[in-house]
Amino acid sequence: MERLLIAAAVAAVWRAAVFGADSDLTRHVLPLMGSDSTFEFSTGNTYPAVGRPNGMHLWTLQTGKNGNGWIYGYRDQKIRGIRQTHSPSPWINDHGAWSFMPLTRDAVGEEQRASWFTHKAETFEPQRLKIYLADDDTTVELTATERAAIARVVYPATDTPYLVVDAFGKDGRVEVDAAARRIRGESAFFRMGRLPQGFANRFVLEFDRDFAVAGGEGTSIARIKFAPTRRGETVTVRIASSYISFEQAERNLGELGDGDFGRIVEEGRAAWNERLGRIGVEGALDDMRKFYTCLYRTQLFPLALHEFGADGETVHRNPETGRVEKGVYYAGTGFWDTFRALFPLLNFAYPDVNAKMTEGLRNCWLECGWLPEWSAPGIVNCMIGNNSASVVADACLTPGVASRETAEELYRALLHGANAVKEGNKSCGRDGWELYNRLGYVPRDVKIRYSAARTLEYAYDDWCIWRLGVALGRPKDETDVYLRRSGNWRNVFDPSRGMMCGRASDGTFDANFDQFEWGADFIEGCSWHYTWSVFHDVGGLAEAMGGKAVLAKKLDEVFVLPPVFRGYGGRVIHEMREMQVADFGQYAHGNQPIQHMIYLYDWTDEPWKAQHWAREAMDRLYRPSPDGYCGDEDNGQTSAWFVWSALGMYPVCPASGEYALGSPLFERTVVRMPGDATLVVSAPGVSAARRYARRVTLAGRAVNGNFVKFADLRKGGELAFEMSDRCGRGD
Ligand code: CA
Repeated sequence: MERLLIAAAVAAVWRAAVFGADSDLTRHVLPLMGSDSTFEFSTGNTYPAVGRPNGMHLWTLQTGKNGNGWIYGYRDQKIRGIRQTHSPSPWINDHGAWSFMPLTRDAVGEEQRASWFTHKAETFEPQRLKIYLADDDTTVELTATERAAIARVVYPATDTPYLVVDAFGKDGRVEVDAAARRIRGESAFFRMGRLPQGFANRFVLEFDRDFAVAGGEGTSIARIKFAPTRRGETVTVRIASSYISFEQAERNLGELGDGDFGRIVEEGRAAWNERLGRIGVEGALDDMRKFYTCLYRTQLFPLALHEFGADGETVHRNPETGRVEKGVYYAGTGFWDTFRALFPLLNFAYPDVNAKMTEGLRNCWLECGWLPEWSAPGIVNCMIGNNSASVVADACLTPGVASRETAEELYRALLHGANAVKEGNKSCGRDGWELYNRLGYVPRDVKIRYSAARTLEYAYDDWCIWRLGVALGRPKDETDVYLRRSGNWRNVFDPSRGMMCGRASDGTFDANFDQFEWGADFIEGCSWHYTWSVFHDVGGLAEAMGGKAVLAKKLDEVFVLPPVFRGYGGRVIHEMREMQVADFGQYAHGNQPIQHMIYLYDWTDEPWKAQHWAREAMDRLYRPSPDGYCGDEDNGQTSAWFVWSALGMYPVCPASGEYALGSPLFERTVVRMPGDATLVVSAPGVSAARRYARRVTLAGRAVNGNFVKFADLRKGGELAFEMSDRCGRGD
């Protein structure tokens, strides 16, 4: 804790130097951005999340029904509870969720107790929420630490000040101990399979006054009643949770210290400013709001799962095995999404944060025998690829993130995952690995779905394994296998079409290939979205297509083609709709596969088109409003795209140590690099019109080509863009 405070103090001094006295960046964060989403149409599929950066629990208001993945809908009119959540996405839903709700009416169940509210009487900050519950004339304010929270409930004058605790039906239970002024509960709510024996969210609420038991419903909803209140009387509730035990939950209450609400809010604000302040931008208010809201979303997931035991030792309950183990652990991220821009961003500006997550991955491997591809909180069956290889390699190749020992252990995990698949979970390891290793691709006729997309991702993942193996000095005959396999993307590249195409076991390409078909050989996209998934060899892709000019033309087509989609048996999945409405042709920024594509112009003679489209996407596909994203935000990934793009660069190939240049959003961006070096990205006069880079210099020297290296940026200095309203480089 002390070290944290010192770090926060140092950060505050640095921030003040960059921003002047007014350095509270949390005021630019709009937690509601992306919350105007439904099953059919996502403008983020986010909920306003209150907590600490990568804390253990998040808090929000619940408008959706218990068990509905859509916890908070911006257009909903009633609040059902103040909810503790760990939901990374409505599609994954939640685990260990529960809620509480103060009432003055005689109600218990979620339908009866729901109260009207308005956004005008609602406050969301990263460190605090406040809501006026109109039907009960009651206000709730809550602030949280990593594992605990404190709530203040302001009642009106009433003879019936109730409070309901809801542990979500059959998966939960609640016990009231009025004599101890305490409620204990447990939630094993989970929708992605089964939680292991022993794994549940155990929570405790402690009240600052006496109360009586006032019924409830079954064993999972309890209601208590306080003595009559005067108008404005405040009941304070101290809350903490644990995955280990009730005893540990009570220990976690210690995070609240003396329970001073205002102090905890300020500590939360400082913790957020420490993260947000590592990248300082100044510009138009709406752009700053978009930037810091996106940056906030990159600092929520994965959530910590570890706690500090009686002697201060770090412990966690493994969400896959159910056993209590030593060390750190994180969960709640899908690598298929987040390998692309989120983890590279952490390595770039938050290596200390990712060092702990990387240690957590090592613990996962040692305890489970696998790396997760989707942790939620255990290793769930969702999406494809073996992109833990990218996450691990990028981390281990970044100085200061992983120890040699950790890197070696994780490398063993990668070799294992590349040549196996977990029983009963085709998303863990590699589905079709034997065929892939033998044929050089996953064939489309062996009942393995998304065969071409899998092949492309495995090939890139192999390149990551090769990179890490070489860096660790592994034998050449071992690493060469992965280098060779990294070329397997060529096996699903159909030269006659110049596009990626599914291929049968006998080597023939799909005779009925449909360029607009989603969901057959490509997951959540069509060939137009996956043809670019050669992150590690864009030059090779250009060559295979017939040269740089052909690649450029193919990239152009993406924006010119109509937003046609077919597939999924005629079902319209929300990603299709989000592409259709965006007016960006086939450029489906609302989903991950194509998000790096704009930057592939850097491999052609027309890098100005990367600058053009990067700015276009920043301006048109992100808004500082509840419908602000153009599809699922996905645990920081789609936000990380914006953060990188605003910096004027993008990690097209994580684990390469290189970034492709784009068009900075701000005239001046200051990044506090590891070791307190300062990187300044400057673009004087930049605007929507002046979006083109005529010249780029780093530390006074011209950047030749369209790429910069992390090794050069981390030393600090100025990356200077000379902007123009005319496209093309030079004079
Ligand atoms: Ca997605």
